[in-house]
Amino acid sequence: MDWTKLPLSRATVDRAAHRRTDARTLAAAWSDGRTRVLLLQEGRLAVVRDDDGVRLDLRAAGDLRGLAPDRTPDGVLRLFLGEDDTAAYVALVLPDRAWGGPGTVDIEGVPTSTDDLVGRLTWATLRDVGHALDDRDAGLAATAVGLAAWHERHPRCPQCGSRTEPNLSGWTRRCVEDGSEHYPRTDPAVIMAVLDADDRLLLGHAPHWPERRFSTLAGYVEPGESLESAVRREVAEEVGVVVGEVAYRGSQPWPFPASLMLAFVAHATTTELRLDDEEITDARWFTRAELVAAVEAGEVLLPMRTSVARVLIEEWLGHRVAGE
Ligand SMILES: [Zn+2]
Repeated sequence: MDWTKLPLSRATVDRAAHRRTDARTLAAAWSDGRTRVLLLQEGRLAVVRDDDGVRLDLRAAGDLRGLAPDRTPDGVLRLFLGEDDTAAYVALVLPDRAWGGPGTVDIEGVPTSTDDLVGRLTWATLRDVGHALDDRDAGLAATAVGLAAWHERHPRCPQCGSRTEPNLSGWTRRCVEDGSEHYPRTDPAVIMAVLDADDRLLLGHAPHWPERRFSTLAGYVEPGESLESAVRREVAEEVGVVVGEVAYRGSQPWPFPASLMLAFVAHATTTELRLDDEEITDARWFTRAELVAAVEAGEVLLPMRTSVARVLIEEWLGHRVAGE
């Protein structure tokens, strides 16, 4: 298992953070014919699916003329994602699906603007396609989805309640009243493969998941808590198991909307399960043979391939499991 290549941790584009403070950065990138634009709407990414697989449907800014800065309606947000040797990358966050856009058709009914383009795009969520994107696209997509979700949830200043506006090339929001600057937040969450002394793996089922979906336990880190303490507290709360040694494995962003998943292997010193029944309604210890048999029989659905939970489970198994 390559912990440096987690599905959503992969990235090749330089974030070029030093360019964010320059107020001209977005406009300059937008007018550069080499710039590639990632389109995002309601958390979904514009993608191309063909025989080669799936990739981002990156567009030249010139193809998006109807959405150019001086003609955009309120609500179209641009984010500077960074640059590499070939291009700068900008995310264009469109309003929701009900938005009609600035579109028109010519006299023969041929679409002439992006409104029609938007209607023709293929959309996919990062959860569904993240693992299938190449390294560059995975990094761009994880960044754009997380940053866009933060903007959407922070229209108001937490200090005075006034409206905030995007600033620093889309990397902060500034209050229009008091000028305070607000930065995107990331919520640390621990996720752990809990193993017992016989090397069995503990998987649980949460009530809001699809039926038969089993996954590793996870939870948010609380204020004043170390990662190791969060692992031990979450396991104790959810299934009543005591954890001793805890070993860090790796991390990946999980921007739904703002988590950073920190993955651990946790060694249990007890095996009796006492479920809290609210967060976890079923939990079982599996041997490798038992889990493989349960998956093949359709009794257990593993977490999606984009997730770090899937990586933890397949690392313990020692091999990949077929299917998404
Ligand atoms: Zn304010």
